[in-house]
Formats: sequence, structure tokens, C-alpha cells
Amino acid sequence: MKICVLPGDGIGPEIMAQAVRVLNALGLKFEMEEALLGGCAVDHTGNPYPEATQRLAREADAVLLGAVGGPKWDTLAREHRPERGLLGIRKDLNLFANLRPAILYPELANASTLKAEVVAGLDILIVRELTGDIYFGQPRGIELREVNGERQRVGWNTMIYAEYEIRRILKVAFEAAQKRGRKLCSVDKMNVLETTQLWRDIAEEVAKEYPDVELSHMLVDNAAMQLVRNPKQFDVMVTGNMFGDILSDEASMLTGSIGMLPSASLDANNKGLYEPSHGSAPDIAGKGVANPLATILSAAMMLRYTFNQEEAAQRIESAVKKVLALGYRTGDIFEPGTNRVGTREMGDAVLVAL
Ligand code: NAD
Repeated sequence: MKICVLPGDGIGPEIMAQAVRVLNALGLKFEMEEALLGGCAVDHTGNPYPEATQRLAREADAVLLGAVGGPKWDTLAREHRPERGLLGIRKDLNLFANLRPAILYPELANASTLKAEVVAGLDILIVRELTGDIYFGQPRGIELREVNGERQRVGWNTMIYAEYEIRRILKVAFEAAQKRGRKLCSVDKMNVLETTQLWRDIAEEVAKEYPDVELSHMLVDNAAMQLVRNPKQFDVMVTGNMFGDILSDEASMLTGSIGMLPSASLDANNKGLYEPSHGSAPDIAGKGVANPLATILSAAMMLRYTFNQEEAAQRIESAVKKVLALGYRTGDIFEPGTNRVGTREMGDAVLVAL
């Protein structure tokens, strides 16, 4: 179990330190090696995704990432920005499947902007295709054309999916559903878009290989509505790049606690990059107050999806539930009457619970 550890920038090193402590406490044999990604890599090498990091990331079975970016690097040319490092590593490792859970622990139900009874106990997983769709389709552009007898600007993009791309993301989603509640909702817009008609047809075909998972379909506009009306009806949702971009942000905001949400991006062999859904939080970097739980839960996802260590993953998740039940809160999830702790103390609490 070879892990490439990339703490990154801002709060990255602080939250990563806690995730590494938790991994080391499990009694499993990991080989962990640290490297630079993002702004810290720009400072040391001039490249946000340096060659040494590329080598390590390719050799490893999984990559655990803190976060990258910050105001210090915002004025750099686009190709030298920390975000380039993130896009670079995702592309380099062929990570086409993005898994984003939205979990709302009952203790944090007040953090949501929705009524507590609608979201308390929410536990859904959005599987988003990450490397195809209208974001990458060719041709694309803006040009002057004759329209209605008038020269004007026209913009266009191409929504395109090949069968193999749809099939492989659906397989990831069915397999994730098998590890959870065995319900999969595939989201499309087949009433208008041919690409998504193909998506729906292939979903039906792939479903035959997973008779233990119940497949349903939903149009994307309805899915957006159902996510705020009754999100607990869902277990796993799977969709293309653009719909997934929007729905996964909508779903994560149902919880109101960005410091709590992990994510995974997988390749065809379940090699993965695991990272919290939040950024590098430069406003609180170096203060020892950041919430490390999203990163700790990302490590749990790594154990589940790359290393098939379901029991260890659940041990971490149960420990996180326990520290919340005991009232430990970092500033971002603090409520009067709970016990405010810093980054390291939250790590301590998780270790004790483990
Ligand atoms: P952000 O997620 O870093 O911060 C948004 C707000 O949430 C801030 O007030 C921050 O303090 C708070 N927050 C975030 N994570 C927290 C945590 N673990 N504990 C407590 N509070 C937390 O988003 P932003 O401010 O828009 O971006 C800051 C920088 O991060 C930018 O440079 C951006 O490019 C980068 N970024 C990186 C990633 C990534 O590495 N995947 C993702 C998003 C943004």
C-alpha cells in the first residue's frame, strides 16, 4: 500500500499531518512518501507539478492530497499557477471518476440551510465523469457568422461521449453502490440530448452485470429539484461531467459543512487521488484551527476504494462520528454548547476514538 502524500499549500500541511497520524494508528503497513504539489512546488522548483512528484504519483497506488493555491500565487501566469498542478496530476493519472459523498452527521444538522428533518442523516454519493462531455468535446469556439442576415458572434461546444467512457464510469458507480445501499440513480437529459439517450441505453446494459443493484433514471432538472426536496431518497447518483459538476456542488452544500467532505478521483484500476472538497483556506492557514476531518475521511475513502480495506475505512468513519457525538468541533462547525478544538486536538480526539 504505497501512498504519495501531497500536503500542498495553506492549511494543507496542517490537516494532512492529522490524516497521516490516523493512518499510522491503524496497524496496517503503509509506505508513505511526501512530495510537492501546487504553490509550494512552484516556490521550490518553478513547476506546480514537478517531475519528482510525477514519478512518485505514478509509482504509488494512491495519492493523498491536502489542498493547493493561495493569494501568493494568484498573479502568476496561468501555466505556473498551483491549480495547474492539480489539473496536471488528474490528467496524468487518467482519473476519470470523481466520487463525492455528501454526508450530514445528525449532530451537524443545524449547519445546513435546509430544514434539519430534510437533511439530518443524509448519506449520498455522487459519481461524476471527469474527463469527457461538453467540457472537452471538439469542435468548440466563438466566431463571427451570418445569422438572420446579420454578422454576429456565435459560440458553440460539443457534448460527446464514447461508449467506453460511459461504460467505465457506470461500472465505477455500480461497484460503489454495491459497497453501499445498492441503489443507483443515473441522471441524464434523454428527452432532449442524444448523448444522454446513449448514456441511458448503456446504463440499462451495464445494469445486467449488477443484478444486486437497483437502477433508476432521472432527468437532470428533476434531480436538481429532488436533491433539495427530499435528498435522502438517493443512495448513489451517477452522471456526466457537466451535470455532475453542478449536482455535486449542490449536494455538498446540503450539508453546510465544507470542512467535513472528502472526495476521490479514480482511474480504471481503482488507483485514486483522495482530497478534501475544500480549498487551502488561506484565511486560517498556520493558525492551527482548520478542520482536518475532510482529509481524514478522504484517507478512509482511500482505504475503501483503492486498498479494499472496508473495515479500516469504517473504523475511521465511526471514530469521526464518535468525536462529533462527544461534542468536539473545530471553528467552522462550532455551535454554542459544544467543545471548540484546534486541528491537532481534533486529530487527538479521532485517535482516542479509534
Ligand atoms: P476554501 O475552501 O479554501 O475556503 C472557503 C472558506 O471555507 C474559507 O473561509 C475557509 O476558511 C473555510 N474552510 C475551508 N476549508 C476549511 C477547513 N478544513 N476548516 C475550516 N474552514 C475551512 O475556498 P476559497 O477561499 O475559494 O479558495 C482558497 C484557495 O484554495 C484558492 O487559492 C483556491 O484556488 C484554492 N482551492 C483549492 C482547491 C483544491 O486544492 N482542490 C479547491 C478549491 C479552492
